[in-house]
Amino acid sequence: MRIEKLIKDKYGLLYSTELLLSIILLVFIIGIIANLSDDLSEKIGVEEELSSIEDIAIESSDYLLNNPGNPDNWEDDESLDIGIVSSNIIPGLAIKNKYVDNGQFYIEESGDDNVIANSISYRKLIKIRNNYDLLIDRNLFNDSFKSSMAVYPLNSEIGPLLMGDEFDDESDDNNIAVVNRTVKCDYYSNFVVYNFNDFELLGDNYYREEICNHDSDSKLENHSNDERSFWLCKNFRIYKKSLEEYDYLLISEKCVKNSNSYWILENLNKPNDNKQRLNDEVIDLNPFFVKDLENSSNEIYSIHFNIEKNHLNDFKAVLVAIPKNMTDSLISNNELKYEYFKVQDVNFLLKIAYK
Ligand SMILES: [Zn+2]
Repeated sequence: MRIEKLIKDKYGLLYSTELLLSIILLVFIIGIIANLSDDLSEKIGVEEELSSIEDIAIESSDYLLNNPGNPDNWEDDESLDIGIVSSNIIPGLAIKNKYVDNGQFYIEESGDDNVIANSISYRKLIKIRNNYDLLIDRNLFNDSFKSSMAVYPLNSEIGPLLMGDEFDDESDDNNIAVVNRTVKCDYYSNFVVYNFNDFELLGDNYYREEICNHDSDSKLENHSNDERSFWLCKNFRIYKKSLEEYDYLLISEKCVKNSNSYWILENLNKPNDNKQRLNDEVIDLNPFFVKDLENSSNEIYSIHFNIEKNHLNDFKAVLVAIPKNMTDSLISNNELKYEYFKVQDVNFLLKIAYK
């Protein structure tokens, strides 16, 4: 044995075997390192791409939520209704020149260009949904990305709004960025003429400030609050001409039938005490106004509600004026509901990916 080993050593056989093994090992190690570094650079590459698509998604949603879009009132462009979209329109969702109070948006008188942070326009959302390819894919993203938007209201009485491009399953999950923000959406709150839940803010301390014609007319039931109930009375003027443009509706929350509330609608020149129980969620007031304004161009009306103190939470109602050309679409979309006339908290989602 010993001699054989010596002979092998002599011929360098052992040495060459070691060298061969070393070379194989080295090649193997180099191969592993190369593979590892390939993997590593690939991973770094993916992460770089992902962080940039995330940056784009964040920037895009910040832009959409904080800008009203260009030009001003772009959503009023009638061509949008027939699918013609000017390449000059850069859509934004923010609401301009209004402020929020008592759960409603109001038009600001000062006329400055204030934008309400994180408050989005339902009307603009609908225009975007109907023209997504051109307004978002082309005008906002220059056809470089595919994207989708979704609005999920926190109030379950309102349905979600989904729009944009289709994303096929999880195949390219790593290249998709999603931004989720909680914002306020105005829905149809700008159609509200009166919000009839003032006392909600004051509870038992509610004091009616509005003058009621029943207080001063001894022939009529007095509308002062008593132990059992509140009276809520509002006066407003209706023009005959406006009946051609608007549907005046009294819209109450679903549980109004539990509130044991009564209401009176009267022309101030023809006062009455005809209380009716408030049972219906939607009451069309136009037939009453049309009949009453037959021989007059305008009249002042008063609407009175009597609400039991221990059923306050079941009484929520609004008087709305809906442009006549929109009423049918509200009905067919199941949007003629109290909740659609309030500002609502919603989750806004923007999903974006390279094409
Ligand atoms: Zn009254």
